[in-house]
Amino acid sequence: MTEHSHNHGHHHHHEHDEDGGEDEHEHFSEEERIAAHVKAGKAARTALDYAKANARVGMKLIDLAKIAEDKIRELGVGIAFPANLSTDNEAAHYTPRFNDPRVIGEKDVLKIDIGTHVDGFIADCAVTVDFSGENGKLLEASKTALESALATVKAGINVREIGRVIEGEIRKRGFKPVENLSGHSLDQYVIHAGITVPNYESGNYVFEEGDSFAIEPFASTGLGRIHEDHAFEEIYGVSALGNVRSPGARKLLENIFLEYKSLPFAKRWLKQDAMLGFQIRELKNAGILDYYPLLTEAKGVLISQHETSIIVEKDGCKILV
Ligand code: MN
Ligand code: MN
Repeated sequence: MTEHSHNHGHHHHHEHDEDGGEDEHEHFSEEERIAAHVKAGKAARTALDYAKANARVGMKLIDLAKIAEDKIRELGVGIAFPANLSTDNEAAHYTPRFNDPRVIGEKDVLKIDIGTHVDGFIADCAVTVDFSGENGKLLEASKTALESALATVKAGINVREIGRVIEGEIRKRGFKPVENLSGHSLDQYVIHAGITVPNYESGNYVFEEGDSFAIEPFASTGLGRIHEDHAFEEIYGVSALGNVRSPGARKLLENIFLEYKSLPFAKRWLKQDAMLGFQIRELKNAGILDYYPLLTEAKGVLISQHETSIIVEKDGCKILV
């Protein structure tokens, strides 16, 4: 998943004090934390490669999502968020709905963005598949941008420099970086932990040894500015705990928090009960659930994305995926 830096009142920054996250941190040493990230990263690599190898024109997106998510479960790690399968001008946060009829088209530019976690320590990664083979340069732009960023990251480097490198690789191939999507720090059970890695020369944070981050350049044939499409609502997350009146909604929240904590989840993962829509709305209205809107550019635009997660080291970085 990605961090949208100019959201309009929809806070995706899950502060980690309401779920006891700080306390859980204390149970893990630095070595254990890094080992968990590494394990999550290996599983993410296997699942991402497997999903990519199985993606076919004519396949339902829901089937591809299940292939990716089932593989993560089979590998014995947690799913950090629903498989994001965003097509063409959609940059991020499309996950198929329950019984979603959408299929992969022969000219689709499909972003496969998945996440794993071990004890809440996350690996977030993505690759783009170009089914027509006509968009090699666009894919090369985000891929090379990621590679150059990874070759530049180390303790003491400012995120601004990473943004400059990413923007340079994308612009020199004739595309625009998506300016209002960015990489992000990773915290335990928190996918967008507050520090961003812009895809252009911006930001001001100096990497420290041991930091965990996702870096995710997006290259666009359009303006490089996405907007939120609120007509699509499928991915949610608990943003604050609180009380609701109806027992059904209260029970749903209990189950969600037990299973996903503050991590994003899909509505299709829940029991498809007749009351589900009402209960979700009640939790949203109470400020407990937030949703992740679809992030898109204008129709006709094509966007590519490549993403991996890292641990910053003194002289470079450990690439997790
Ligand atoms: Mn992602
Ligand atoms: Mn991400």
